[in-house]
Amino acid sequence: MTVEAIDPHGFCSGVAQALRRAEEALAHAPAFCLHPLVHNERIAADLSARGMRMVGSLADIPVGATVVFSAHGVSPAVRTEALRRGLCVVDATCPFVMRLHRQARLFASRGTPVVLIGHVGHAEVQGLSGEVEASGGTFQIVRSVADVGKLPFPEDGPVGVLCQTTFDAEAAAEVLAALAARYPGLVATPAAEACSAARDRQEAVRAFVRSGGDGVLVLGSVTSSNTLRLMEVACEAGARLAVRVAALDEIAGLDLGGISRLGVSAGASTPETFFEEAMSMLVGMAARMGQRT
Ligand code: SF4
Repeated sequence: MTVEAIDPHGFCSGVAQALRRAEEALAHAPAFCLHPLVHNERIAADLSARGMRMVGSLADIPVGATVVFSAHGVSPAVRTEALRRGLCVVDATCPFVMRLHRQARLFASRGTPVVLIGHVGHAEVQGLSGEVEASGGTFQIVRSVADVGKLPFPEDGPVGVLCQTTFDAEAAAEVLAALAARYPGLVATPAAEACSAARDRQEAVRAFVRSGGDGVLVLGSVTSSNTLRLMEVACEAGARLAVRVAALDEIAGLDLGGISRLGVSAGASTPETFFEEAMSMLVGMAARMGQRT
């Protein structure tokens, strides 16, 4: 078995920026993060060890303390409530997500109903829907071509599209095509596509499998949307094995028998140190497998 790193890996620009913002906030302890800063347990544990407390609600933060908004962004209602409570805000929202919020406001201000391609309940989708609502707009969330047929918006009017940054890029393109077929007045902007960091990783995994790779190991958290998409992409592309792990001991327990080319990918919030440790462990496992055959 050969073990190959699938590039790109390492932090995306949005995660790198979020970590810089968290550093700023830690200088003003006590600091609180509303929702995990990014979806990765190692990062969460490191921040927590350095004094950052994760909370699920602004009500859990003492008046006057510092709050960090995670990379996924928040709704205007949350921003207003944070200021009302006298909190010092450090905003770690990813620039790609901010672009979506700007476009959401624009659609709403023009009275254009919004179709949001995304996963119900995801923090980014909640923030975006809140943005449309706060601007007086209407929205519907879709995640498949089948959902497009159920939309209530009139077919002879304009419809705007936003896409969750970490949605499967190919699946989003299919939904977009179905929307364009049903709504001639569809307004497509760059906000209708997955972010380039997520898309590049998905394309690289797809290309690896299509070039003959039969196994894909994705490093990252079960709570990380872009990590889960990478595993789905590997399965859909035809990989015999597509598995996600978040720790080295999970790798040790993997059954890699029968795999000839194993590709290793990682979510955009997976630390590079973990990637290197995992690669080195897998190369050792492959060497031992080679000695047994
Ligand atoms: S994956 Fe994309 S949207 Fe998410 S933090 Fe990274 S750059 Fe931003």
